[in-house]
Amino acid sequence: MKYLSPSKLLVLASYALVAAAACLLTAATLGVESVLRKENILLAVGGSAFFVFASAWLVTRLLSGSLGEITGVARRFAAGDLSSRIPVRSSGEIGELARTLNAMADELGRRVRDAELRRLELEAAFSNMAEAVVVTDGAGVIARMNPRARTLLQAPGGGQGKRLMDMPGGPELSEAALKALAGGLPVSSETKSGLEPGIVLSVTASPIREQGSIGGCVVVARDITAERRLEAMRRDFVANVSHELRTPLTAITGYVETLLGGALEDKEHAREFLGVIGEHAKRLDNIVSDLLKLSRLESGASLLEKSEVELKALADGLLAGFPARFLDGPVKVTNLLAPGLMVRADRARLDQVFINLLDNAVKFTPAGGSVQVSAQELHDAVKVLVQDDGPGIPVEHLPRLFERFYRVDKARSRELGGTGLGLSIVRHIVEMHGGSVGVESAEGKGSTFWFTIPK
Ligand code: ADP
Repeated sequence: MKYLSPSKLLVLASYALVAAAACLLTAATLGVESVLRKENILLAVGGSAFFVFASAWLVTRLLSGSLGEITGVARRFAAGDLSSRIPVRSSGEIGELARTLNAMADELGRRVRDAELRRLELEAAFSNMAEAVVVTDGAGVIARMNPRARTLLQAPGGGQGKRLMDMPGGPELSEAALKALAGGLPVSSETKSGLEPGIVLSVTASPIREQGSIGGCVVVARDITAERRLEAMRRDFVANVSHELRTPLTAITGYVETLLGGALEDKEHAREFLGVIGEHAKRLDNIVSDLLKLSRLESGASLLEKSEVELKALADGLLAGFPARFLDGPVKVTNLLAPGLMVRADRARLDQVFINLLDNAVKFTPAGGSVQVSAQELHDAVKVLVQDDGPGIPVEHLPRLFERFYRVDKARSRELGGTGLGLSIVRHIVEMHGGSVGVESAEGKGSTFWFTIPK
């Protein structure tokens, strides 16, 4: 037989009391004598017993049915299925219990969904970070790493279970990790990658504290090569600009002092000195104006105003605009561009590109030489070539020719009024148009500077 719970016993006892009360009531109504008759007693006891057991069975059936249902759903909750709900059939205590359990399942479900969403967000951030992240245990053994770390440590399958310092490329990271694990404080360092030459990494290792002790460490490595290169370029640029400005400034100051020191009275030399001062001031002006052009181009302040430009007409206009320089000068410039060749470009900026290239060609080619402007039609761009039969450029200089202030022969460039910025301005403008620049030359063989402009 099934075990009777205290609540069921209570129900049975109350029904027994009801039955006893019914007997007493019968005795009072029918009179004690009639009640005491044997058949009447048997009838009363039998009736009461039947009533008690029937109603008790009914009540316990109902009770255990509802509780069984609640227990079943509660078991599903415990197993993680929070989508089930207990049907609420009454407003009593059992109903209240069902309602409370359903509300608890709602709340739990909401929290589990929130936690899952947060986990997915973190997982997405972890996987797509540009930084390499490695999580180790207290002994420096890898527990987790993101895809960037797998590339950095050359561990395509993930290095879980291996010591960080044993991974290829690991020692650079593990040094910081071991220090953080030993000292319990974050450690930052800058190191060169042992696997990829020239790559500079910034490594930060932070210990993970678990109930007071250090249970592991998170190592974050960031590739800072581009930043460092940019800083070096900026430093070089400032040094170059200062140097370029100092030369004419020193000359101007020197000649002014000489004039003030008495040379002003010497009419013949004073004129000559003033001429030199004027030349250096012009040089300063050229440098500052080229620097301004470059900085405007670099800051993006000068947005391109593109229109359809016919190349031959543009070149003809330029040559005619400076006849002494290009058409009637000691170096003859010929425009071989075919009529009708169109590009979409910013006319003023394209003028600047032509002027800088033509200027150089004429400047560096000895008198009697010739310069030709021509073009080739490519699939989706036009390639413009400025070709001279001048002295040419030694091949070792070609890769750096478009850098700021780069000159093959500094003294000669200065003598010819150059700033060393002309070609870098050309490169900037052409790249802003989505094109590219280049040069083909060899010593004694003339030079061909070219650029492409999308049609
Ligand atoms: P610069 O103001 O000195 O002309 P650029 O940036 O225009 O500066 O040119 C950089 C250097 O490239 C020049 O100093 C020169 O050495 C070389 N160069 C440019 N064009 C020519 C050319 N047509 N022939 C020979 N060398 C050239």
